[in-house]
Amino acid sequence: MAAMTDIKETKNKIYPCVPTRELVVFPNMVMHFDVGRNTSVKAVKTAMNTGTLVFLVPQKDANVERPTRQDLCTVGTLARVKQIIKTPGGAYRCLVEGKQKAKLVELYSGEHYYEALVRNVPNYSKEKLDDAELGAVMRELKKTFVEYAELMPRMPQELYTQIDTAPDGISLFEATAFNLMLQFRDKQILNEISTVGEKLTMLLTILTREVKIMALEQKIHERVQEAMDESQREYYIREQIKALQEELGEKAPLTEIYDKQELAELLGKVAEAGLSGEAQEKLSKELSKLKGMPASSQEGQVIRNYVDTVLELPWSRRSEDNKDLKLAEKILEEDHYGMKRVKERILENLAVMQMTGTPKGQIICLYGPPGVGKTSVGKSIARATGRKYVRVSLGGVKDESDIRGHRKTYVASMPGRIMTAMIQAGTNNPVMLLDEIDKMSNDFRGDPASAMLEVLDPEQNVAFRDHFIELAYDLSEVLFITTANSLDTIAPPLLDRMEVIELPSYTREEKFNIAKLHLIPKQLEKHGLKASQLKITDDAVYALIDSYTREAGVRKLERHIAALCRKADRQILEDGKKRITVKNSNITDFLGHKKYLDDGVSKKDEAGLVNGLAWTSVGGVIMPLEVLVMDGKGKIELTGSLGEVMKESAKIAVSLARSLAAKYGIDPSFYEKKDLHIHAPEGAVPKDGPSAGVTMTTALISALSGIKVRHDVAMTGEITLRGKVLPIGGLREKTMAAYKAGITTVIIPKENKGDLDDVDDTVKLAMNFVFAETIQDVLDAALVTPKGRRKSDMPFELVKKPVKRARKSDI
Ligand code: ADP
Repeated sequence: MAAMTDIKETKNKIYPCVPTRELVVFPNMVMHFDVGRNTSVKAVKTAMNTGTLVFLVPQKDANVERPTRQDLCTVGTLARVKQIIKTPGGAYRCLVEGKQKAKLVELYSGEHYYEALVRNVPNYSKEKLDDAELGAVMRELKKTFVEYAELMPRMPQELYTQIDTAPDGISLFEATAFNLMLQFRDKQILNEISTVGEKLTMLLTILTREVKIMALEQKIHERVQEAMDESQREYYIREQIKALQEELGEKAPLTEIYDKQELAELLGKVAEAGLSGEAQEKLSKELSKLKGMPASSQEGQVIRNYVDTVLELPWSRRSEDNKDLKLAEKILEEDHYGMKRVKERILENLAVMQMTGTPKGQIICLYGPPGVGKTSVGKSIARATGRKYVRVSLGGVKDESDIRGHRKTYVASMPGRIMTAMIQAGTNNPVMLLDEIDKMSNDFRGDPASAMLEVLDPEQNVAFRDHFIELAYDLSEVLFITTANSLDTIAPPLLDRMEVIELPSYTREEKFNIAKLHLIPKQLEKHGLKASQLKITDDAVYALIDSYTREAGVRKLERHIAALCRKADRQILEDGKKRITVKNSNITDFLGHKKYLDDGVSKKDEAGLVNGLAWTSVGGVIMPLEVLVMDGKGKIELTGSLGEVMKESAKIAVSLARSLAAKYGIDPSFYEKKDLHIHAPEGAVPKDGPSAGVTMTTALISALSGIKVRHDVAMTGEITLRGKVLPIGGLREKTMAAYKAGITTVIIPKENKGDLDDVDDTVKLAMNFVFAETIQDVLDAALVTPKGRRKSDMPFELVKKPVKRARKSDI
């Protein structure tokens, strides 16, 4: 027997020594480990090369780099080094087989490695327990191992069998101690203990302790499983503390316990709150849980918060509807200028509501650019109906729980926005404005749109369930109004439920009237000013509209008026002024430089410069297009952030110019000999869309022929290769921009003639319209008539109205 020879050979001898860190090698155990320290590498190499054993002895503290005798445990194991491999990382991995338990007598720090004088001790001393006792310990250990294995994931089946069938104490000890992930200290103790009986008893103690700890961990884990949400870290920790406290037998201090009287008061409130049957039952149940519970306890707080929130909800409180439609109309008129269509639709809806007695299924969606009064119309509807008003902002809502709340098990749980709004309203029939419903988006936390659908669907909203409230709540009496800047991003099923009312952008005149009739009086009052103290002249109002703001609505306009009021307040207080007048001539003193000067429209006819019309998010704008022709090789350069569609329009324009070359005296080989540069000023603003087709062609023909383009003409229209003019969108906004810029003639596609109904009356009155069917119609109207050509030569009839030029001060 090799082991026996080793014992004899190694008695009181010196061996190369490797101090190990948190590593115990038992006799008879084969294992590998990495050796890091140079001295240790040398020790194992020497042992391997010389065929001696190496003494493996654990350090008491793994962090000590150069241990001395005191830093090492006394008991270690002599081992045979069977293999040393250098790992790719540069460390040495060696395979050892534990041979003999030994005690460290002396440690020498040799030239290359540690050496240890050791005395061997028997691997297993003489057994003190009798067979029956040993048998009992073995049986108990096997049983405990099964419990341990159940809590330990991925325990290999062979180990079960090995342990279960271990025939004697030593096999059982070795199967268990060699294979389980035990703590270092435990292993060292197991190695130090001398008899099998003692070793098995110690193992039993260790396993029993581990089983207890793991069971506790699992219990805690299960308890807090639900609260693993990231935002619930605090709750997680509290739960752990609570679970540990309970385990230690510590209870929360028994002060401030809910007493009978307090509970009775709460029950009284429940009875009075006009709750649904379900709600009453649920609250009573929750309150009964509070009995005897410390008020400061976690659970107590959660329950109390829940009960209070449910009681705050308006279960049966409601406001009386205003039944007088005439009065409603008066209020709507009072609050907002214009908006004829909107007001009519609202009054119709109110009438239906009165006839049917419920707002069910009538969901208005106010759709339009920012600042056109969507939110404030919502408020006005509340005033007109005599209902309470609440606004729920949906911009940026990504998570379903924003709408529907968090389950109340979370410490920071709250109801969702809908229920919070109901609490805020205090009545169960408010006007609820769901602002920016188009800005809701989906992410991994669920789909808020489908929760919203439940809120708005009359079939489902009679029993809306918030995750926090956990009770059916009737939302059917709520008058929902939604607002949106764009319809494309609203989930189609949601859009289906709503009746879309468009609030288009305002014309210059509308803005002026809104400022005079609403914004200025409102801001004066807000700033404590009387009309006599601050006068903003009409031309100053126009200056605000034209030179300080460029917007579809009136939000910035209102902000600038507020700025004027603030300045006035200060001047009155600081300089003792009695009366301040803001005029166009002194407005820069108040607001600084004008931001937007004119629209960049040329004041004289030029060749290669055409006024196009574009439609942007802030309304219509004049988009001048310049073309320059130079000698070259037929290159086309496009600048000014023109999009792909515009680039294609440019190519069509070149082909059309070639086909019309003869007619306009253009050199037919220009596309080979000339370079063209097409540019749309304000280069930083991206521009795209097909409606610049006619503009591009006109500019090109003008530049190539040298025939000037009328500076008072603007145009819009898509063009085909055959020169046909196709219809475009945004006519109202585009013509408005043309009018503002002092243009007198607008060329539009013939097919858009029907859309003239949408165009503002002021614009229609002041403007000549040319309805173009082909590019020829456009060129005839836009190019300056060559001298000597009579009007009747022109292919269409240009009916000239006496043009009322839009001067900025005459409206
Ligand atoms: P939106 O919700 O469409 O972005 P707001 O409701 O916030 O616009 O409107 C901005 C401001 O302009 C509000 O103070 C609003 O009262 C005012 N306003 C907008 N349109 C009108 C109007 N037609 N008459 C009176 N005030 C208006």
